Amino acid sequence: RAQLRALRRLLVEERPTLEKALQDDLGKPALEAHTTEIGYVINEIDHTLKHLASWLRPKRVTVPMAMAPAKARWVREPLGVVLIISPWNYPINLTLAPLVGALAAGNAAVLKPSELSPATSSALAESLPRYLDGEAVAVVEGGVAESTTLLEERFDHIFYTGNGAVARIVMAAAVKHLTPVTLELGGKSPAVVEPGVDMATTARRLAWGKFTNAGQTCVAPDYVLAIGASAAELQRELAAAITEMFGADPKASPDYGRIVNERHLERLSALLDSGEVVAGGRVDREDLYMAPTVLGNVDPSSPVMAEEIFGPILPVVSVPDLDAAIAFVNERDKPLALYAFTDSQVTKRRLLTETSSGGVGFGLPIAHLAVPDLPFGGVGESGMGAYHAQASIDTFSHVKSVLDKSLALDTMRLAYAPITQFKEKVLRRML
Ligand code: NAD
Repeated sequence: RAQLRALRRLLVEERPTLEKALQDDLGKPALEAHTTEIGYVINEIDHTLKHLASWLRPKRVTVPMAMAPAKARWVREPLGVVLIISPWNYPINLTLAPLVGALAAGNAAVLKPSELSPATSSALAESLPRYLDGEAVAVVEGGVAESTTLLEERFDHIFYTGNGAVARIVMAAAVKHLTPVTLELGGKSPAVVEPGVDMATTARRLAWGKFTNAGQTCVAPDYVLAIGASAAELQRELAAAITEMFGADPKASPDYGRIVNERHLERLSALLDSGEVVAGGRVDREDLYMAPTVLGNVDPSSPVMAEEIFGPILPVVSVPDLDAAIAFVNERDKPLALYAFTDSQVTKRRLLTETSSGGVGFGLPIAHLAVPDLPFGGVGESGMGAYHAQASIDTFSHVKSVLDKSLALDTMRLAYAPITQFKEKVLRRML
């Protein structure tokens, strides 16, 4: 609790430094820095402090008659020392939200922020030791070399957020010490849009979810599956929504971020030919800027549909009906999130039961991960394990089973040899 309160103080008092670091690394607007990173973690701390006692309370269970009188309960114990390796896209949130869970469950932690968000990494490395107990939390800055060295050490849990290729390296390293891992990964999260829905609202919500942090969000809608005749209207509304949100020149908007580095900007630029540019398409290398972009008429076999986009490009793929949309999703890796814009309960039920994904958002993308009590995590290629609130306690603690029987009266005699006919009869009846 003391460490959590200290972490909260850090986030409040160092806010200007952290906001500046996020601005330097990602051009992150101040309000976005608050809602998706700093304020987000403060909420996670407050929610945790409020509910921690009930989450950690031992749970009593009943004891079978044959063992009575006795008491049984399960209690939680910390795992020990946790390694948290985090990525650059939400460098505060994805480093500190897992830390909140690790501390709440009673662990010490080593944090390894991403070298691709160097300003935030160094702000965390500088400020955390001033607020937190150095015996409880340490920060190691660096990239592949430092991560590799860390992974040679024995930890009691490794919590990795990032891409699937590195996740395999992390998991392979964990094998050596039989260390449990949580892998928070990404993938192509689809957004299914049905004809007949309020297309203007759908477009605004999709644009909001996609272009927050310039599309560099693990749960951003990666692509749209537009059912039937919905594509044309949706594309028009998406273009209108972008202008409404970011003006005619989004580059000048104070509410729009930048691409993390040149390598990612180049990677993204190469995807712009994958369809007809319905909105955006502009790139400014000097400024690491890519306009919020919508691609229409996208062929499923085009490059933009091959891998997670992780940038401000929203391809629209047309499919004839819901069956085709479901088949499309199921032919690919299980995504971190699946979104649908529909008024039909039948469609919702079918998507829930006929597809698999880390989470689901009906009518609103990305926001499910800000509902404190919803566990957040992937499935299959999008990850394993989950966290946030009570799910973090589950991840970062061991459930220890305790049976407690008094020595005062030996009611167990029935079970001891020699087994007489009488004992056998009674025991067979009881068990
Ligand atoms: P990244 O390049 O910052 O890498 C993540 C971390 O892995 C960094 O700390 C980095 O130093 C470390 N790393 C890199 N190479 C390593 C190696 N060889 N050995 C050990 N550690 C190594 O970030 P990224 O992977 O580009 O992040 C983007 C990906 O993360 C996307 O796929 C995105 O969807 C996913 N993501 C998932 C979540 C989630 O919560 N599920 C959140 C954000 C991002």
